[in-house]
Amino acid sequence: MQRSIEIIKCLKKEYPEAGTLLQHSSPFQFMVAVVLSAQSTDEQVNRVTAELFADYGTPEALAAIDLSLLEEKIRGVGLYRNKARHLKKMAQIIVEQYQGEVPSDFDELLSLPGVGRKSANVIRSVVFKKPGLGVDTHVHRVANRLGLVNSKLPEQTEKALKEQIPEKCWSEAHHLLIFHGRRICQARKPQCNNCVLEGLCEKRFEK
Ligand code: SF4
Repeated sequence: MQRSIEIIKCLKKEYPEAGTLLQHSSPFQFMVAVVLSAQSTDEQVNRVTAELFADYGTPEALAAIDLSLLEEKIRGVGLYRNKARHLKKMAQIIVEQYQGEVPSDFDELLSLPGVGRKSANVIRSVVFKKPGLGVDTHVHRVANRLGLVNSKLPEQTEKALKEQIPEKCWSEAHHLLIFHGRRICQARKPQCNNCVLEGLCEKRFEK
């Protein structure tokens, strides 16, 4: 527990601005942006949603959109065909079963098309300010390199991180590890010589 807290403290100093970069102006829009963000950069998603949300930023509008038009509008992100199907279905469910409101319950979020554990955690923490620690590729990689976890699957990483990080810091830890993974502890070329976690990192000690 102690080392994970040290790491969070260090990263907080380094990235005081850490938080979501996905632009949105409602819980529903954030959920759409999160679904679009799988295997895509936040910049790509923001470019796509800036146009999409102008006319289709509500569950009702997205539920009614023609599927091929939706595909056209989100072409700028990866896996756009699958995502279009998921988003339309998701919007229909939100309208029909949740009166147009995004549910806050983890399992209900998880049951929506296109929403996996990472997305459900992120939506809960950003939109509802509830504890959530989403594990994407950056969180998974950095947590393993640091030696906070020793896991092959994101789900195992999520469980292990949740066991050692206090619940009130889960959301923050998610954003901080992502920032660090993008800027310093990159997949191919981690900049260990330029890393504030140098003395706290197990991987670093192996170099
Ligand atoms: S020391 Fe290297 S491997 Fe460890 S967190 Fe920093 S950049 Fe990543």
